[in-house]
Order: sequence, then structure tokens, then C-alpha cells
Amino acid sequence: MTHFTNIIIIGAGPAGMACAIQLKRYGLNPLLIEKDEPGGLLRNAGVIENYLGFPDGISGIALIDLFKKQIEKYNVAPLYNKVISVDLSGDQFLIQTSTGQYECNFLVVASGTSPVQFTDITLPADAGGLIGYEIRDFRHVKQQQIGIIGSGDAAFDYALQLTENNNQISIYYRSRNIRSIKVLADRVVRHNNISLYADHLLTDVSKSPSSDGLRLSFKHANKTIEYQEDYLIFATGRKPVLEFLSAKFEEEKEILIRKNRLFFAGDVKNDLFRQVSIATGDGIRTAMAIIREKAN
Ligand SMILES: Cc1cc2nc3c(=O)[nH]c(=O)nc-3n(C[C@H](O)[C@H](O)[C@H](O)COP(=O)(O)OP(=O)(O)OC[C@H]3O[C@@H](n4cnc5c(N)ncnc54)[C@H](O)[C@@H]3O)c2cc1C
Repeated sequence: MTHFTNIIIIGAGPAGMACAIQLKRYGLNPLLIEKDEPGGLLRNAGVIENYLGFPDGISGIALIDLFKKQIEKYNVAPLYNKVISVDLSGDQFLIQTSTGQYECNFLVVASGTSPVQFTDITLPADAGGLIGYEIRDFRHVKQQQIGIIGSGDAAFDYALQLTENNNQISIYYRSRNIRSIKVLADRVVRHNNISLYADHLLTDVSKSPSSDGLRLSFKHANKTIEYQEDYLIFATGRKPVLEFLSAKFEEEKEILIRKNRLFFAGDVKNDLFRQVSIATGDGIRTAMAIIREKAN
């Protein structure tokens, strides 16, 4: 059976939640579909210091709790399902989730980003939970040595968060320059538990023969250098989550956007401009555009 609903929002991150709240304020009842739990990428963030209203900063997790309270206040109850495909059925959007099928008039894609998988080298298949991409999978790790690959905001934010459990962190990056925002870079440079390795190109990762950890090989100054780490986290970029859009849908996409029936909000469309305030602003703007379209 296909369920019909006027507006569907894919993703309960900051963009999707803000959009749902604004639509509710107009008296509309969007269906907010989330595959995991509300909050999205904020679950990876350490302290958010640039979201207005929190002069002392707020942790990503605490901000999610507030966002969740706010959607509850507006009776937005996400449907916990993964969107598998988005297609067109006549004039409607047809959304297939892990457990059901839905049709709608307006579709908001607020599905955020996923980590770019590191394919420069083959990673050991038997590394179990020692290698990963999302810091939330490593928050339980205590008093270990953790290698991070990358020199951007995420790499530096992850490093600072992981020191809270007395871990020793090594950040490796292939360029000579740091890409992270200065405020994080300054904290990392000052931190006794974090070491920086510039100009280090990762060439091999294997299970360590002498411990339960990993052996990392790098090319540095025309030499190969090896290091041991207990865990390895890649913070080497993110890409929009759009794999559920069918090929046919892709052909019609631009027309639907022009008709104000299809919207992309938040990180999924913002390239490097990935910030909570931009995502929530996008969500609100999208809701207002839907209202205007309905009024016409
Ligand atoms: C380490 C780190 C630090 C950060 N620090 C800051 C900071 O200091 N300040 C700041 O402003 N921003 C910061 N950010 C960025 C901020 O977290 C993001 O900009 C924001 O979360 C984007 O919101 P979004 O709703 O667009 O996407 P997301 O938060 O990614 O949410 C997308 C949601 O869609 C869901 N979804 C995806 N695919 C499907 C599917 N097929 N079916 C159903 N649901 C789906 C996901 O599960 C997710 O919940 C940081 C991010 C990281 C990683």
C-alpha cells in the first residue's frame, strides 16, 4: 500500500528539523524520515562555538538534545526508516523506504553527507573496528594511540575530542599546510597529547604483527616511515548523500526545482559551506518557499 502525504523531508539533521518546525508553524504536517537518529552530523561535532545564542559554546550532543526538544514541542515525530529510492509516479514523488512506500507533492532532501571512503590504498579487511570514519564509533576508546588522517576541521575537532579519554593522538597529513580553522589549529598545536605529522603520505596499513593494533607506513622526505597505532580514523572529506535518487529522477530534477516542488537543504547541497546555522537557515527558507508555492 502506498501512503500519501503532502510534504516529505528526508533526513532529521539540523536542516530537516528546522524545515519541519517551520512547516508546523504554518499548520502543515510534513513527514520527516530519518534512517538513524535525529541530529545528523552534529553527533560527530565537539563544541559548537559559532551557533548564535550560545556564547560559551555548546557540545554537538547537547545541541541535538535541544533540537529534539524543539521538534517534540511541535509534535514532529520522525518516521525511523531508511529512504532507499526516490522516483516519480505521474506528477507525484514516489519514495521507497526500508518498510513502506510513500507519495508526496513536495519533497525536501536534507540527507547531509557521508564520508568519502579512502581508496588510495587497500585497507586490511580484517581490521574489525580499528579503522573508521565517524568519531562517534570511537568515543568509547580510552588510553590508546589513535592516528587520524587529514588536516581539516574534522580531523582537528576529532583529535581534541579524543584526548578527553586520555588517548594519544597523531594527526598525519600529506600536505605541508594545515587546512583547519585557526581556533582549532591553535588548540591542537598547544595540546600535549596531540602530535602533528605534515608531509606524510599514507602508503600502507596492515595489522601489526607485534600488537593488536595497526602498522602504518608513510612516505616522508623520500623515505618510508612506519608508526604503530591502536586505531585509525580517516577525516578526508565528505560527499552529498544522494544515492537514492533514480536516474530518471535525475533527468527531471532541475525542472522540479524550478517548479518549487523539489528542494535540497543543508549540507547535501552546500559543498564546503557545512555549518549548522546555514543548514537550519536552509531548512526554514525551504519551508517558507513551500508555503509560498502552495499559496499561489
Ligand atoms: C567534527 C565536526 C565538527 C563540526 N563543527 C561545527 C561547528 O563548530 N559549527 C557548525 O556550524 N557546524 C559544525 N559542523 C557541521 C554540522 O554538523 C553540519 O553542518 C550539520 O549537521 C548539517 O546539517 P544537515 O541537516 O544539512 O545534515 P546532517 O546533519 O548530515 O543530517 C542529515 C540527516 O539525514 C539522514 N539521512 C541520510 N540519508 C538518509 C536516508 N537514505 N534515509 C533517511 N535519512 C537519511 C542522516 O541520518 C542525518 O540524520 C561540524 C561537523 C563535524 C563533522
